[in-house]
Amino acid sequence: MPFGLLKYGFRRHYPARRYLPAVTELKDSYDIVIVGAGGHGLAAAYYLARDHGITDVAVLDKGYVGGGNTGRNTAIVRANYLTPEGVRFYDESCRLFQDLSGELDLNILYSERGHLTLAHTDAALRTMRWRAEVNKHLGVASELVFPAELAKLCPELHLGQDARYPVMGALYHPPGAIARHDAVAWGYGHGAWRRGVEIHQKTEVTGFQRANGRVTGVETTRGTIGAGLVLQATAGSSSVVAAMAGIKLPIRTVPLQACVSVPLKPFLDPIVVSGSLHVYVSQSDRGELVMGGSTDPYGLYANRSTLEFKEGLIAHILELFPFLARVKVMRQWAGMADMTPDFSPVMGLTEIDNYYIDAGWGTWGFKATPVSGKRMAECLATGRQPDILSPFRLDRFQSFEQVGERGAASVGH
Ligand SMILES: Cc1cc2nc3c(=O)[nH]c(=O)nc-3n(C[C@H](O)[C@H](O)[C@H](O)COP(=O)(O)OP(=O)(O)OC[C@H]3O[C@@H](n4cnc5c(N)ncnc54)[C@H](O)[C@@H]3O)c2cc1C
Repeated sequence: MPFGLLKYGFRRHYPARRYLPAVTELKDSYDIVIVGAGGHGLAAAYYLARDHGITDVAVLDKGYVGGGNTGRNTAIVRANYLTPEGVRFYDESCRLFQDLSGELDLNILYSERGHLTLAHTDAALRTMRWRAEVNKHLGVASELVFPAELAKLCPELHLGQDARYPVMGALYHPPGAIARHDAVAWGYGHGAWRRGVEIHQKTEVTGFQRANGRVTGVETTRGTIGAGLVLQATAGSSSVVAAMAGIKLPIRTVPLQACVSVPLKPFLDPIVVSGSLHVYVSQSDRGELVMGGSTDPYGLYANRSTLEFKEGLIAHILELFPFLARVKVMRQWAGMADMTPDFSPVMGLTEIDNYYIDAGWGTWGFKATPVSGKRMAECLATGRQPDILSPFRLDRFQSFEQVGERGAASVGH
């Protein structure tokens, strides 16, 4: 090893190691075309290659790898949802996340911190108890804790009765975690590429050619290509892309904003969420406080941030952590959240034979990246809806079989 290092030191050139592929020509056709190189599209490509040996795959993105919501989220991972269908699904994702750094040979900075969802009302406490019972029943660690226990879990939290909405208790979910969001996309992209998948950035899909109930061609800004199967994984633009294929989705797209503070000495271990105050906060490995709130109350396809959001968010953060009053916000941004009526995703088969969908990721899709990739790959490879994805099929809205996660998804990331 010392000799190798010495040899390396005396080299004349140090060619950069390419992590993602260079620009190449598009082929005429592929077995599978994936639209969207966010975490979900790249994870699906990775598991198609790893688990099913399918590598004649092109992943197309109008921008760059991870430049959509994957690189804009607040990176919270948890499984403490409300419905059994949701808990089972997100729990599988948490388990995949736990080994992901090793699997992808890239440190995704996965850090289990514990997740506290605060209750300021009796009604909220009742929902937390409900979630705790469903979680425990499915083997997911969650319990109701009260202020004495909370003071030990998060000593910095203001628990005084002088608060506008005093904290009455919380749902405590020890496996709640954060991770480096870009790294998840880079890792899956790299792993897929190494196995033979093509990734084409700056390649926008502008339409689909259809015949006999199937998609026969994918129109892009770099020409039209043939596709055996198509997977749409374009969170934030799901309705727009699905409409090109002639599919109408029950989705409304709204902005979701977030911000980070200047870096601080580590002091906040758990992730803290308050649905009543519409805020959540965690401290990143860099020391920044990562803060977010609820979605903007109007439909819009734009990634702009507003002063109004920042003012409201910070006022509420200070109700929980008054001593942060002089800390500065360093950066603010927004993404586009595709909201479904039941706050659950839309995944799997569609009315078009060879067109598959992975959409409706609203404010909750980062944590689902591994399980979505793995199970959508299975769905494409077998042509069947895997059991775990069955509750999330698109036609549930026709049969009134919604998977209502509102009590666990809004502001709760
Ligand atoms: C501020 C914010 C905070 C969030 N916090 C959390 C959180 O803490 N935890 C959590 O679980 N979730 C969170 N989310 C949600 C999460 O970010 C998303 O659900 C998730 O990243 C979706 O991943 P994706 O791969 O499906 O989509 P994206 O990463 O958005 O990728 C979709 C890709 O499709 C591409 N695309 C779109 N249209 C076309 C086209 N016509 N042709 C080609 N390419 C196209 C886009 O360029 C984009 O790169 C948050 C979201 C935001 C905005």
